[in-house]
Amino acid sequence: MSTILEVKGLKKYFPIRGGILGKTQGYVKAVDDVSFNVQEGETLGIVGESGCGKSTTGRTILRLTEPTGGDVLFQGHNLSALKGDSLRKIRRDMQIVFQDPYASLNPRMTVGAILEEPLKIHGLANGTERKQRVKELLEIVGLTEYHYTRYPHEFSGGQRQRIGIARALITKPKLIIADEPVSALDVSIQSQILNLMKDLQEQFKLTYMFISHDLSVVRHISDRVGVMYLGRMVELAPKHELYENPQHPYTQALLSAVPHPNPRETRERIILSGDVPSPANPPAGCAFHTRCHACMNICKTVRPELKKTTDGHWVACHLY
Ligand code: SF4
Ligand code: MG
Repeated sequence: MSTILEVKGLKKYFPIRGGILGKTQGYVKAVDDVSFNVQEGETLGIVGESGCGKSTTGRTILRLTEPTGGDVLFQGHNLSALKGDSLRKIRRDMQIVFQDPYASLNPRMTVGAILEEPLKIHGLANGTERKQRVKELLEIVGLTEYHYTRYPHEFSGGQRQRIGIARALITKPKLIIADEPVSALDVSIQSQILNLMKDLQEQFKLTYMFISHDLSVVRHISDRVGVMYLGRMVELAPKHELYENPQHPYTQALLSAVPHPNPRETRERIILSGDVPSPANPPAGCAFHTRCHACMNICKTVRPELKKTTDGHWVACHLY
């Protein structure tokens, strides 16, 4: 497997403005020095509670929002060095699927027009070819040619996410960043969409970055999983390793709250004390230290780096 995406020291800070003059009074460090790789053909799951920076990480990688610092390399090309046409070209290869397909589909456009739009923007096919490609893709995602002339409101939530997926696929991308793609759907529909995504991955040799707060969903679809807390990556490991042998106290607490697939193996429930601190004012040292049962003195002042503990298992914690 080769590396398709390299994220190095990625940062996204949002200024907090205040006062009559609207001066910058500080920053929300939504993504704070995050580094990881994605291998071609794999699914990297990213989990964490809401506000941990996982969506912002995805959006910043795609340059839907400008990074404050760090580098993103896609197939070896540094995206921050690209502008105009060369950036647009690479954007065809990196697409996004959103949580709420309804909010991201123009209600006044037919499904056919919605799906043809990216082809027009990228100048990828003429009129007849576009129509043909859209109709093929509708079938591939489990809809039919009949849906070509329908409007988004005529579809169920699950069908709308199929349209969202088709729109991401229309430019034949290599990488898809899916941001909570099944969180708005009923559980019964969730597995249909996850299975569709798995089939499409195989069929089109896709690489996924799959963002979700739901540990069971991430377990179902991922090969490796990264855990984020307050804008930082705190643990990253192959799926089985992470779920069977979590090392970071935060990951251990998260996993203790979800039922083990084997009911005979019970884990003691770890209750986290306190709320997630504000990302505008994260604790010094280890950002998790205010809630960690294993907190030591060093944790309050020194930020732990993400380090390899065993093969492929990375953790940012002074215990290791
Ligand atoms: Fe807990 Fe310290 Fe590890 Fe942070 S670095 S998770 S506070 S033990
Ligand atoms: Mg989010």
